[in-house]
Amino acid sequence: MTADAGDPPSTCTESDCERQAAVRLRVPWEADHAVCPACARALVQRGGVVAEPLPGHEDAWP
Ligand SMILES: [Zn+2]
Repeated sequence: MTADAGDPPSTCTESDCERQAAVRLRVPWEADHAVCPACARALVQRGGVVAEPLPGHEDAWP
């Protein structure tokens, strides 16, 4: 599934997670995807993954 960069955030793309996505993850080995702050914190532990807040959710990610 493809999504335009300007799409409004929906739900977290991690499996078994239905919280609202608030962070865009830039993952070198897969497509960018939107996740919730909790999943983002776990995923950025992996090297090379960069997280940035989605528009309108700047307060959800430091
Ligand atoms: Zn999540």
